[in-house]
Amino acid sequence: MSLLKELLEKNGVILPDDMVAKLEKYQEMLMDWNTRMDLTSVKDGDMASRHFVDSLLPMREKGIVPSEGRLIDVGTGAGFPGMPLAIANPELQVTLLDAQEKRCNFLRAVKEELKLDNVVILHGRAEDAGRDSKLREKFDCATARAVAALNVLSEYLLPFVKVGGKMLCWKGPGAVEEVPNAKSAIAQLGGGNIKTMPMACENEHHVLVSADKKEKTLPQFPRKNGVPSKRPLK
Ligand code: SAM
Repeated sequence: MSLLKELLEKNGVILPDDMVAKLEKYQEMLMDWNTRMDLTSVKDGDMASRHFVDSLLPMREKGIVPSEGRLIDVGTGAGFPGMPLAIANPELQVTLLDAQEKRCNFLRAVKEELKLDNVVILHGRAEDAGRDSKLREKFDCATARAVAALNVLSEYLLPFVKVGGKMLCWKGPGAVEEVPNAKSAIAQLGGGNIKTMPMACENEHHVLVSADKKEKTLPQFPRKNGVPSKRPLK
């Protein structure tokens, strides 16, 4: 059994061999491209757990990550968590959004190599894309990992989510303290029913924060580029 498959199974994520083979090819490409450009600071030996298992961990419980419909991963970087989720859920249409073109180039190469018809790569900022009528409130789920504090992240994510959908944030253990600070922002953006779920993986204790989209987001959100992070909603 491959190291990645073993690690995934040890953490309760069971995937067929062809999906694991795609994840491995993706990991191989990431290691190769990372020698030429700065895609991730995670060292080769830690990639399987820090990137791949971590991205897929919420799949060990049914109903957290949708297996179909549309998902957008905002600030996807080298593709986490969106690309592993797309590989593991071929019926899910996944849009990967990032502000850095070089990261998008890498993602395009992965999409082509693995023939991922369910993946769309978009270069741009969440503040602009969230105002685009082709993207605004068109997704069942918006995800992000390691992008911003929860109050800022909510303004990036919730404008993309349809009423009835949700945002999912992969966070460190400090997330529990970020929630009280983000409650008002989430409500102003049309969200509610915030939940925190512990996601322990190897020696890391991560937390997944979810919020449901209850009402449409008011047209003034997201605010202009850079404003959500400079002046987070209070
Ligand atoms: N999500 C990936 C992960 O967990 O490995 C990448 C995390 S990296 C620390 C943050 C990424 O978010 C960067 O690639 C950056 O370009 C992107 N980013 C930050 N703010 C953004 C915004 N407002 N819109 C789009 N992308 C953004």
